[in-house]
Amino acid sequence: SRAEALLKLQNIESAYGPIKAIRGVSLQVRQGEIATVLGSNGAGKTTILKTISGIIDPRKGSVNFQGQDITARDPARIVQLGLSHVPEGREVFPLLSVRDNLLMGAYTRRDRDGVARDIEQVFQYFPILRERAGQDAGLLSGGQQQMLAISRALMAEPALILLDEPSLGLSPKLTKEIFEIVVRINRERGTTILLVEQNANMALNAADYGYVLENGRIVMEDRCDRLREKDDIKEFYLGMK
Ligand code: ATP
Repeated sequence: SRAEALLKLQNIESAYGPIKAIRGVSLQVRQGEIATVLGSNGAGKTTILKTISGIIDPRKGSVNFQGQDITARDPARIVQLGLSHVPEGREVFPLLSVRDNLLMGAYTRRDRDGVARDIEQVFQYFPILRERAGQDAGLLSGGQQQMLAISRALMAEPALILLDEPSLGLSPKLTKEIFEIVVRINRERGTTILLVEQNANMALNAADYGYVLENGRIVMEDRCDRLREKDDIKEFYLGMK
């Protein structure tokens, strides 16, 4: 059975002008798990994450985090509550060094020793970032920027990380590496993760619980070990053979 819900979405509807992107989504992310929302291009995955982190205000429904209603709160406040968003396309600060990008992630923290320890820990997860610590982040490859974006989110000591398509534009080898570290972060730090992905194979292997999104609606949910066995789902909703 699943642990208690850390994040709870109830009947969320979000739209861009007349375009309804999310049409009544309810989902839960339990304390300590990796949950995933799977779906094809345009299904509404990114819109769900933006609604959770306060970038988009929903037309209907509520977002509850750690027992608090955070619906449509200011995004900066939501980060302070322990919820970090790693957006699609990474969005590192290109003209700041790798190390300064990491420090930006920790800007609300006052525990210098803790910050230094966490920088050391992300360098252990992603050794290439240690080698590039003094370089401008804009000079990193796409995969390295993804590593930095995840690391910067970690520096805020979040209880929950929202991860938008970490595999986007990366080679299969690099995707596999990043997923392995995401699972390690979850296991070692106990960080709860909500991952949205088009790469259903990778996500179903990494996550504990999965939701399948189609046209802004959840059409199926189950434990990932069960979803992996359902061939028809893979074929119809996830484009896998
Ligand atoms: P992708 O993998 O392409 O990001 P997604 O599953 O994350 O897909 P969303 O980006 O959430 O999907 O988009 C959901 C729907 O909302 C799509 O129909 C998309 O065209 C539409 N949409 C997204 N952003 C905007 C916007 N800024 N203005 C208008 N429509 C938008």
